[in-house]
Amino acid sequence: MARRVFMLGLDGGSWNVLDHLFSQGVMPNLARLCREGVRGVLESTTPPVTPVAWTSLMTGANPGKHGIFAFRKAHPDNSYLAMPVNRMDMKVPTIFDYYRTDPGLISLNLPMSFPATEIAGLMVTGMMTPQADSAQASHPSDLLDRMAQAGVDYVIDPKLEETRDIEPGDIFGGWKEAPDEILARLGRITAARMQAVRYFQEHHPWKVFVCVVVGTDRIQHMFWDELLPENGGPTSDRVKRYYAELDAEIGTLMESLDPEDALLVVSDHGFVKTHGSFQTNEWLRQQGWLKRREVGRSPLYPLKIFLNKLGITREKLGVILSSAQSSKLQMKASHIDWAGSEAFLCGPFAIRINLKGRETLGRVDPGEFDALTDRIIAALLDIKDADGVPMIAEAVKGADIYHGEGEGQPGDIVFTFRDDLNYTVYAGELGGDIFDHDISKQGDHRVDGIFAAWGGGIAPGARDLRLSICDILPTMMHLNGRPVPAVCDGRVALEALDGPQDIRVEDDWRQYLGDAKAVNYSQSQEDEINARLRALGYLDDD
Ligand SMILES: [Zn+2]
Repeated sequence: MARRVFMLGLDGGSWNVLDHLFSQGVMPNLARLCREGVRGVLESTTPPVTPVAWTSLMTGANPGKHGIFAFRKAHPDNSYLAMPVNRMDMKVPTIFDYYRTDPGLISLNLPMSFPATEIAGLMVTGMMTPQADSAQASHPSDLLDRMAQAGVDYVIDPKLEETRDIEPGDIFGGWKEAPDEILARLGRITAARMQAVRYFQEHHPWKVFVCVVVGTDRIQHMFWDELLPENGGPTSDRVKRYYAELDAEIGTLMESLDPEDALLVVSDHGFVKTHGSFQTNEWLRQQGWLKRREVGRSPLYPLKIFLNKLGITREKLGVILSSAQSSKLQMKASHIDWAGSEAFLCGPFAIRINLKGRETLGRVDPGEFDALTDRIIAALLDIKDADGVPMIAEAVKGADIYHGEGEGQPGDIVFTFRDDLNYTVYAGELGGDIFDHDISKQGDHRVDGIFAAWGGGIAPGARDLRLSICDILPTMMHLNGRPVPAVCDGRVALEALDGPQDIRVEDDWRQYLGDAKAVNYSQSQEDEINARLRALGYLDDD
């Protein structure tokens, strides 16, 4: 039967955090949902980063097919220069394409859904939405205005530095001076988002409702030590308050649904305490695979200082010069000797071989590719902690985990740290320490996210499920009475479902491919997105 399906996304939702909160009685509604329904681990993508993972969720496909491997993609004129990704970079249909003509889809704040798709239903885009163009942030384009008229103070993505005198782009440095304000602001944003849910539930018939909350991710990055103290002590009251309010909203949501409706609660990745950052390019340099420009500073350094004085940032150069000119200039101004380097960090947890014929200044012969990849993996696995135990949990070849025709810039080597000794992965400064313990992030991503389901169609009692993030779209579509597109790598999570199941498959999924051509952000939008990513600690280049 076709049921209504509500998917609540908690960005960064993680059982270690939630179980600690449950044990303190902080989230009784979500605890009940898990008790009466099913719960399990939702395995994220590799790497477990927000844009990659939510894209796999909304397409049911692995990154090799959808083509999103990081927050940014390579500039067409320069392998080493990155530009932000958006929905138009995806190479397979998304939930918005499958429900394009169905007025029953409502989606609020799904990351990577910008620019809004022209759907028969309603949508507000999520993370990676620039404020510089709100017309593309929703469909219909007046939706945010309509919400404002209805008294909903909807905020897509908090620009936290607006809360007070925090240097733009310095949120993780600046939050320490304004933690209560930031927590209160995240609480208000979440409350408004759930108010929007109720508004649409009342005013629009729906079949599939998607809503993503991001306060969880931000708080876990910034307040981990208060949330889940290492000594197992209680969560601080101010952090508890956010989760308690979120839980009350979850309770209201549970009450609002009909008994036949299915409610899924999912996250894009889990979280762990982070101990500092791994300066990957410096590690590559010390291993001999990356070369620093010989002259301590690039020959163009004085020019760069001059341009900076005029307020011309790296991004803005693109407006003044042609794209090819500016990328050449930026390559020359880099502190890395690209032509002399064999490998570099190309995104979170991802190392790329500087391959001849593929990268702009490729150095490695294709015949040496495999051997070099093996050597780098072996060296990563040889990084040991003080007790001589390897720190890297996994280092694999991109070719072994990505399959499909999606383009993009996947890592040739993708690696993750151990959960109990996690380090944030940065390209980092050259010439410093490989491990930097002085970062303002307290928590960071891990692979194991959450899946919980409750209500109609859900088999109560199933525990210890282990699903892939690619399973969510097929499972939602199946619950909603739709065939599963054959392009999906995920499957219907039958072990979570009740009753006899007859899964239908849609072989002709290509009919849903939109006329998607890559559409890049405008320069001002790109500047804004880069500034936001930098503020969140995802970019550390100049
Ligand atoms: Zn996330």
